Amino acid sequence: MTTPTFTPRVFSGIQPSGGLTLGNYLGAIKRFVSMQDEAFETIYCMVDLHAITVWQDPADLRHNTRELAAGFIASGISPEKSILINQSQVPEHAQLAWIFNCVARMGWMKRMTQFKDKAGKNAEAASLGLFGYPALMAADILIYHATHVPVGEDQKQHLELTRDIAAKFNHDYGVDFFPLTEPVIEGAATRVMSLRDGSKKMSKSDPSDASRINMTDDADTLAKKIRKAKTDPDALPSEAAGLADRPEARNLVNIYAALNDQSVEEVLREVGGQQFGTFKPLLAELAVAKLSPISEEMARLMADPSEIDRILSRGAGQAREITAPILEKTYEIVGMVR
Ligand code: ATP
Ligand code: MG
Repeated sequence: MTTPTFTPRVFSGIQPSGGLTLGNYLGAIKRFVSMQDEAFETIYCMVDLHAITVWQDPADLRHNTRELAAGFIASGISPEKSILINQSQVPEHAQLAWIFNCVARMGWMKRMTQFKDKAGKNAEAASLGLFGYPALMAADILIYHATHVPVGEDQKQHLELTRDIAAKFNHDYGVDFFPLTEPVIEGAATRVMSLRDGSKKMSKSDPSDASRINMTDDADTLAKKIRKAKTDPDALPSEAAGLADRPEARNLVNIYAALNDQSVEEVLREVGGQQFGTFKPLLAELAVAKLSPISEEMARLMADPSEIDRILSRGAGQAREITAPILEKTYEIVGMVR
């Protein structure tokens, strides 16, 4: 059988499970924006069906979905260059996810560390959706035959599972239908850590607001959170090796580098030898300079949510031109009478 060539196509999503964080921006959105100008079709998604794998107040979910769309657009994702969608408006995602629930194996799913982290000690009380999350994520990607997925490092395991699902489907049905998607995990901040605990990822769903920088934080809040960020008492090193056993220091330097589009080495050449009392205000100033234009634009867009709704509805129409034929073909391969 000849191996099909797939259109270079990017898909990625973010959950409206809270407000956007600096981790989402540096780990994912910055790359979403740059990939629009490379040789890819780009599709970016608010994954509302993923968000409800843990409880979401309905009014908050509606607000967060629109605010996330505003965050995408304000960060530079153009509805002219990219297809921008809300997951539940493109029903083929959930339809393909059912097929993938029947392809993925229990043993594979039980190894997923995100489920273990999110379910915590009381896994029996977690939703079935939280357990099945990675199969829906595989469907989000593969319903577009996406070839590349820009994500933060925490999603690497889910992308490996996506490839396993694609490979098993292709093998079981004797086809070469789904591509083996490549993760794109690049940059100085693929894993931004909590400001309170250098061993924990910064997350929008962390109960502690002090643990994260929100894209909507004002300049004072931002400066205060950075000033209070956990650090050690030593001065900054002049070389990256000096950050090896200093997770909190490394995190702040990585954030600085990613915000300023510099390498960690370049940053340390400038700030090596500084105490945190000097470095933190510099970081706060840089963060305000980079983030406040985005948060101001988000606020402007949120003043007219009907325009956001129009953009999402148009995106859903464009998306379904891709997803409907791929779902039909999948059903045909599986043997469903249509
Ligand atoms: P939640 O706590 O609800 O899971 P989250 O902040 O982890 O929210 P997601 O919607 O799960 O955000 O992830 C969206 C994208 O942001 C993914 O590509 C993910 O890898 C990336 N991402 C999330 N947190 C970080 C982080 N701390 N550093 C870098 N990338 C991140
Ligand atoms: Mg997450």
